[in-house]
Amino acid sequence: MASPAAEPTIFSRIVAREIPATIVAETDQVIAFNDIHPQAPVHVVVTTKSQRYRNVGELAAGDPALLAELIAVAGRVADEHCNGEYRLVFNTGESAGQTVFHVHAHVLGGDLEEGTLAAQ
Ligand code: 5GP
Repeated sequence: MASPAAEPTIFSRIVAREIPATIVAETDQVIAFNDIHPQAPVHVVVTTKSQRYRNVGELAAGDPALLAELIAVAGRVADEHCNGEYRLVFNTGESAGQTVFHVHAHVLGGDLEEGTLAAQ
């Protein structure tokens, strides 16, 4: 869990509108925006507005309802942008490609190349 004094993550700064992003969906607790370095025709980051949880395991243990909401938002984004067909990737840990330690899913869609497993 992040301490209250933790530096805001890049995603918290997007939530606060300090950094611009193309926001494609938003609920009270979840936000989705286009990835700045897309790895697929559709590449959307879906994250919690709170940076309390660093990865999907922490979120599942700490707030399963919020994880379900994040996945529901991802599904709606995919319905709108890639006919409901998509890959959902949660990187966990640096060696697995995680660079932002604020739980998020990558929605990847639209004629994915074989092997588009990692988001980086
Ligand atoms: P991770 O590597 O942690 O799984 O995913 C982090 C993702 O955030 C990367 O795909 C990266 O391109 C994206 N990202 C990093 N900084 C920004 C930013 O300032 N704006 C947007 N829209 N995406 C970002």
